[in-house]
Amino acid sequence: MSDQSDSIVRRSTPPDSASRPVVNPLQPSVVYSSTDPDELDAQYEGTLAGYTYAREGHPNADTLASTLGWMEGAPAGGVVTSSGMAAIGAVFLGLLEQGDHVVGGDQLYGRSHRMLTVDLPRLGFETSLADPTDCDAVEAAIRPETRAILVETVSNPTLRIPDLLGISQLAADRGLLFLVDNTFITPRMFRPLGHGADVVIHSVTKLLAGHSDVTLGFAIAADQAVNEAMRDAAVTWGLTPSPFDCWLAERGLHTFELRYDRAESTAAALADALAGADGVEAVFYPGRDDHPDRARSKELFGGRGGTMVSIRLAGGREHANAFIRAASPIRFAPTLGDVSTLLSHPASSSHRRLSESEREGMGITEGFIRISVGIEDPDTLIPHLAAAAAAQTLGS
Ligand SMILES: *Cc1c(COP(=O)(O)O)cnc(C)c1O
Repeated sequence: MSDQSDSIVRRSTPPDSASRPVVNPLQPSVVYSSTDPDELDAQYEGTLAGYTYAREGHPNADTLASTLGWMEGAPAGGVVTSSGMAAIGAVFLGLLEQGDHVVGGDQLYGRSHRMLTVDLPRLGFETSLADPTDCDAVEAAIRPETRAILVETVSNPTLRIPDLLGISQLAADRGLLFLVDNTFITPRMFRPLGHGADVVIHSVTKLLAGHSDVTLGFAIAADQAVNEAMRDAAVTWGLTPSPFDCWLAERGLHTFELRYDRAESTAAALADALAGADGVEAVFYPGRDDHPDRARSKELFGGRGGTMVSIRLAGGREHANAFIRAASPIRFAPTLGDVSTLLSHPASSSHRRLSESEREGMGITEGFIRISVGIEDPDTLIPHLAAAAAAQTLGS
């Protein structure tokens, strides 16, 4: 009796096998055992490879970090975190010193905007926002105590492209850290580290993992001391990713390039189809010649347009409601980068905390709709979107 219950509690060892799994195994273990204190010592000293405790690092995070780093053109040292926001947190917690000032783009992702305007100031860091499509505006926001500039490679939801090369040069001239959130564009279209960025940041949750079943982030610098500082912050503040999420993201990455290219060609077709539709006042797509930053999308992205399309309906909220209801079965859900196409309405979600006039200043009306394009055939999507465009004009 007692033997039997002991054997339930005793830890098993995997069966011997001369062959190895083709798929990288999921390793949820929180803790790792060592042979003796000398061996553990050697691990801590870094002379022997090994793991100790999952918050400090685990095999699934390391595999994912090396793949993501390779994709961004940085060989090693990146840190995978429990979300995209955790990655941005690790960057600031790891790199800022007391008294530092940070300049951010004025159209950042909602929670990044809140981090700069509410949370960093609460901790004593001063911040300013500036229009990143205008390098002079960013320069004007720099102070003697400025330490870093944070921008996104494409703004949400108006899909404007910052003056990345100008700001990169500015940051280099002034000795500032240039932090680039590359979530929307991904290394498939642009690698910030090759263009003067010091740190590249991702919400892996979005296009990289790609199936809306993983919440993860990633940050990597070319400089290993910067990587070390971000990693220490992530370990100390507990921004650690789950092994299962890392494992799923690794699986998602195998098809990333196929998914990206397919979604992009579908997005280009949708943008063109919507540009002619009744009741659609404007289409925003970086791959179209009528995009305000078309010259920059050619220079930086080789003319590629990406997987996001935004539209502005001529009418207001009622028209947005009618469009979204009529677009069913395309889902209305506030994320991006999923394999299936998703619609979002910034005025009621990501930008709801801004006043109507602040939103209108950014060109985000009640009739503004963002389309995160999936990997469907354009011919299956265009009829739904055309029907939605027609339906919302009927009531006017
Ligand atoms: C979603 C997103 C984030 C935050 O990522 P989470 O994984 O949701 O924490 C940061 N930046 C951008 C541009 C995003 O789209």
